[in-house]
Amino acid sequence: MYKINENYLKLPGSYLFSTIGKKVAEFTAANPDKKIIRLGIGDVTLPLAPVVVDRLHTAVDEMGVKDTFKGYAPDLGYDFLREAIALHDFKARGVDISIDEIFISDGAKSDSGNIGDIFDVDNKIAVCDPVYPVYVDTNVMAGRTGEYNADLGKWSKVIYMPCTAENNFAPELPKETPDIIYLCFPNNPTGSTIKKAELQKWVDYALKSGAVIIYDAAYEAYITEDDVPHSIYECDGAKACAIEIRSFSKNAGFTGTRLGFTVVPKELKSGDIMLNSLWARRHGTKFNGAPYIIQAAGSAIYTEEGKKQTKDMVAYYMQNAKIIREGLTDAGYLVSGGVNAPYIWLKTPDKMTSWEFFDYLLNEVNIVGTPGSGFGPSGEGYFRLTAFGTYENTLEAMDRIKKL
Ligand SMILES: *Cc1c(COP(=O)(O)O)cnc(C)c1O
Repeated sequence: MYKINENYLKLPGSYLFSTIGKKVAEFTAANPDKKIIRLGIGDVTLPLAPVVVDRLHTAVDEMGVKDTFKGYAPDLGYDFLREAIALHDFKARGVDISIDEIFISDGAKSDSGNIGDIFDVDNKIAVCDPVYPVYVDTNVMAGRTGEYNADLGKWSKVIYMPCTAENNFAPELPKETPDIIYLCFPNNPTGSTIKKAELQKWVDYALKSGAVIIYDAAYEAYITEDDVPHSIYECDGAKACAIEIRSFSKNAGFTGTRLGFTVVPKELKSGDIMLNSLWARRHGTKFNGAPYIIQAAGSAIYTEEGKKQTKDMVAYYMQNAKIIREGLTDAGYLVSGGVNAPYIWLKTPDKMTSWEFFDYLLNEVNIVGTPGSGFGPSGEGYFRLTAFGTYENTLEAMDRIKKL
């Protein structure tokens, strides 16, 4: 008689986006004449860059010709893409990453979930609170998180690192020592970043305590300030304690196209076992490579034209971010994020809960955002707006909020 993985049964329902959907549908049914503006979107909305579309077309043509047809991609990714990444994402920032430390995948979500495969179930994880839910839920599935306390919204074996206005939305070194530390900067949902010197403290801490950092840099292209690191490997010693996860989703609009990569440096070792070898084995066994046409299209963002076109896309969203940040500030809100990230995180006014504020915005000005409490207990009393809407809608949304 087979048994299921009962860890899945421990997962609390993810009601955040379904509840939002339900509330919006109810509102629309009752108010068909009202124009709703959605600033809760965690997905890009601009089309793919022209260089990417062109390369997709030519790559498809190659697949239709015997001489240039490609079957299975190399397990770890095509060299042309890994070389472009090593050069443009790392060497250009003074970081030496060799191509056999780069593993191409179908995205950062898969990688951040799958990476747990190479770690024992008896590792204690530390996460920021609020957090991108994938880090926690995949560890629940693996049986690493203990029991869920619904009142607290917390797992018994997870170390939570609160990120609130009090610490400027940057986690503090935990009192209890974790084995695996998840960090994401620029952050989703808070939009916060930390400076290089602060990230160095995490690297030093991990090296000293024997922890590994899983660093999600999916939003690095949104960094506008100088002293904010784009890669954790800009910090001394990080190659011996950190895995970095990257994505083409937010920097090049690949959310529906699917491409990402993970860096596992060879210096990263448990005793004399290289994590790089374990991940290579895992990747080779359970993944048959991202499609050639997608990897070819991804490599197009590293051409001069590609860099310019993707930079313009990011700039479009960041103009929205600025409008939201300044609009909310003018309207008297306490706001963070939106400078190095497409997310704006605001304190709800008058001690409203995150969901009370959601209803208030929806009913009064017909704007949809995301309640902060959906990302973890320390998100209560906060609210997330995103810069992924259109410029026109973003402007109109701020006009409406200012008139509230
Ligand atoms: C959007 C996002 C990703 C990207 O995931 P993909 O699977 O590459 O689309 C990764 N991490 C965070 C925190 C995100 O918000």
